Parts: sequence; C-alpha cells; structure tokens
Amino acid sequence: MSSPLSSLYGNGPHVVIAGGGVAGLTTALSLHAAGFERVTVVEAAPAIRPVGAGLNLMPNAVRELDALGLLDALAAGALPTRELRYYHRSGGLISREPRGLGAGYRWPQLSVHRAHLQQVLAGAVRARLGAASLVTGVRVSGVEPLPDGRPRLRLEHRSGAARGRASLEPDVLVGADGIRSAVRAALHPGEGGPPWNGMLVWRGVSRMPARAVGSFMVVAGDNRQKAVVYPMSRPTGPDREVLVNWALARPADPGCCASGAERSRGDWDRSVPVETFLPFYEGWEFDGVSIPAVLRAADSAHEYPMVDREPLARWTHGRTTLVGDAAHAMYPIGSNGATQSIVDARALAHALALHGDPAEALAAYERDRRPAMTALQHANRRLGPEVVINLAHERAPHGFTDIHEVIPAEELAAIAGRYAATGAFDPATVNQGSPYEVPLPAVG
Ligand SMILES: Cc1cc2nc3c(=O)[nH]c(=O)nc-3n(C[C@H](O)[C@H](O)[C@H](O)COP(=O)(O)OP(=O)(O)OC[C@H]3O[C@@H](n4cnc5c(N)ncnc54)[C@H](O)[C@@H]3O)c2cc1C
Repeated sequence: MSSPLSSLYGNGPHVVIAGGGVAGLTTALSLHAAGFERVTVVEAAPAIRPVGAGLNLMPNAVRELDALGLLDALAAGALPTRELRYYHRSGGLISREPRGLGAGYRWPQLSVHRAHLQQVLAGAVRARLGAASLVTGVRVSGVEPLPDGRPRLRLEHRSGAARGRASLEPDVLVGADGIRSAVRAALHPGEGGPPWNGMLVWRGVSRMPARAVGSFMVVAGDNRQKAVVYPMSRPTGPDREVLVNWALARPADPGCCASGAERSRGDWDRSVPVETFLPFYEGWEFDGVSIPAVLRAADSAHEYPMVDREPLARWTHGRTTLVGDAAHAMYPIGSNGATQSIVDARALAHALALHGDPAEALAAYERDRRPAMTALQHANRRLGPEVVINLAHERAPHGFTDIHEVIPAEELAAIAGRYAATGAFDPATVNQGSPYEVPLPAVG
C-alpha cells in the first residue's frame, strides 16, 4: 500500500510525532524553528477539528508560543486572564490573585478556546512545514525497537483511498498521543488505562453577556464539589456577548452514570444534558457570577471521569520518547496540562538540536522535564493551589466574615508560591526568558 508518509525528502533525521494535539503540533513547530526539516505529525482523527472547551495557558507556555512567533495570532482569539478568585461554597471570597502581566510576568496568561489554539497551531504547521507534514486519519497502533535503535511504527490508515495498514521506521518517534497513548502503552505494556479517582467532570462552553460573568476566573466550592468558570473571548455584537468556559467536578454517586465496565476503564466522554448536574449547583453565586445561569446558557455539556496517569520512572526508550499527556497526564488543576505540553515540546526540540545523537538528546530532554512534571502530578493529586477551597471549608464549613481568621494571608501566599515553584512558573523564573532558544547558524 502506498503511504502518504513515504514521500519525505530533506535533511536531518526524520522525526515522527504520534498525535496532532497541543503537544504534537507544538513539537512539530519547535523542531522546525530549531532547523529540523523532516517532521511528520500522524493524527488519528480524520481532521483537526475545532472541538473541545476552554484552556488557560500560563505565561511560561505563552512565552514559548511567543518565541515561535504565534503570540499575535493566538492573542487575537483569546482573552488575557487578569485575576483568579477562590470562593467558599457560601459565596465568601477566599483570595484573589492578579495573573499574567498584572502579576509581574513579561507574558500574559491567556484564556482561550481549544479550537482557536488548535487552529493557530495546525495552520502554522501547514504553512511552515508543508501540508504533507500533518497527516490525519492515521492511527499509530504499535511500536517496536529495531536492532539499530530506531523505532518501527505500525500505522492504521482509517480514511480515504489509503485505508489499511502500513509501517514506518523514522529516526525518532515522539509519543504525543494523549492520556491513552498507544506509544506509552508500547513502552510500558501492562500499565492499563488511566486510573479514575471516582470524581466526575462536566465541561462546556456558554455564550453570555460579558456583564454576567465578570472579568475574572472563578474557582469555587468545598471538599465535595467545585466549579471553575471564566470568560475566554472579548465582547462582540450588540449584546456584548463572550464565550464562557466552565468545568465542574463532583464525586460520582454509586450507579448514577456509568456502567461497571466503564467505571473500571475510566474512559468515557459523552454528551449529557445540563439538567443532569444543574441541581447540584443551584444557589451557587460568586460576586454576581451565577453558576446556574452560566450552565443554562451552555451549547452542550460533556461528562468525563477525573483521571490522570501514574508518574513514570522513564519516558525515553532509545529513540522514542513521550510529551504532553502521554508523558505526564495530571488532574485538571492549576492550568498546567496544555501549558506544560507546550514547554515539553520546546525542551525536546532544543535537546535534539544540541545533541548529535538522538538517543542522548531524548535522555537529556527527559532529565530536564521529568522531575518537575512528576512533582506537579503529585501536587495535583493533593489539589495543588485549589487546596485553599478545601481548607476554608474544613476550617469554616458555614462561611466566614474575615478569611484571614480562617487562613492567614501568609499561608495563602505560601500555597500559591509553592505550587508556582514546583512547575517553574513563578515570575522570576519565567521572566528570565526562554531557556529553549536554539541559535541557528548564520547564513552567508
Ligand atoms: C476539564 C479539563 C480542564 C483543563 N484545563 C486546562 C487548562 O486550563 N490549562 C491547561 O494547560 N490544560 C488544561 N487541561 C489539560 C489539557 O487539556 C491537556 O493536558 C492537553 O490537552 C494535553 O495535550 P496533548 O496534546 O498531550 O494531548 P491531547 O490533547 O489528548 O492530544 C492527543 C492527540 O493525539 C491523537 N491520538 C490519540 N491516539 C493516537 C494514536 N494512537 N495515533 C495517532 N494519534 C493519536 C488524538 O486524536 C489527539 O489529537 C484541562 C483538561 C481537562 C480535562
């Protein structure tokens, strides 16, 4: 069978990236910026589709996207996140923190619809590396090492005239294929699916007048259920409407919503009516942001299990490594999953540019990134910075008049500071500039 992947010309090693999500597309762009010419992204979906909900990208990721020349395009469809507020279930304000430029970073934090981010990344891949570098409808179904250290990939073409199986033997393989990564499964056979912690996540996007959602990010709740809500676009139209991202979490009631098999696999993702969970949030209102009003304005809602991945002792096996969720999927806390995927991508390209031997490069990339990502995975299992809503609930279940009698200001600052230091996204570190710029040889 002829494969669209077989017609690759150019200099340097051939790098194949499994997965065209945030991690995979940013890896392709980072490799191109570092001077690599032969890069192919293999995406299982039939097309890069504008799907999903919202994301917050922290300034350390925005810095790397700026270095790739993408900040203007990204910012045109995003909203700077200026403030994060934590609230007690009863409505009391626990703390408010400036974010992005207001917190002293040289780069903004951005609230953005995933569809816009994917569109900017995929458009840049096609424009810079050529349309043939992004192949959709092809799934990586297996990987095995060759005697010379290169990986052999098994591919399934799922659509078009080339439907069938093929194989490919690139110089380097990057597994960017998400939390249920086939590349990771090949490197770590027997690991099984991502473990589920028994919580459900509901997620969606609403369109509402800007005045109804404020200009800040809300993280609210108690030790049982929480809500995250923020605007992610500038007001448009006569009603000054904005897109609003929301994500909710709550323990699953026994037998409420998933079959036994689904529960143990933890792999469902389905559309559900908002009415399924709306009653749990009646009366939730935070400085004028009504959670029920946000939910009633939703286009649709999706239900997922809250899953992460056990930290791995190794990401790299010879000339194959992992980036993004395939390497270090973590609970959606602290806006870090996609953020850190972008930093991974830049770190990997930098290592490949600096080391002549690809296996050494991948090992150097892993030494740079794995310890901090392991610490973040563990921190998110302890609720990361969001632990403040649990502390407030435990210490003052019925609310408070002065939060500092419940959680002293120093304790609040220490929790936020510790988390930022874990992920190396404190302002002092980020403002030093990207450590991943590759000096290209002068021309002429
Ligand atoms: C509720 C929620 C809120 C979140 N909020 C934030 C946030 O505010 N900020 C943030 O930074 N992160 C956030 N995240 C995390 C973020 O969504 C992920 O960390 C990020 O999408 C990971 O990107 P990725 O490219 O590694 O994986 P994915 O986005 O999962 O992309 C993987 C790609 O690989 C493809 N693929 C899969 N298997 C194969 C295969 N075998 N062969 C070929 N292709 C394959 C898939 O189709 C997909 O396109 C949130 C997550 C959730 C669940």
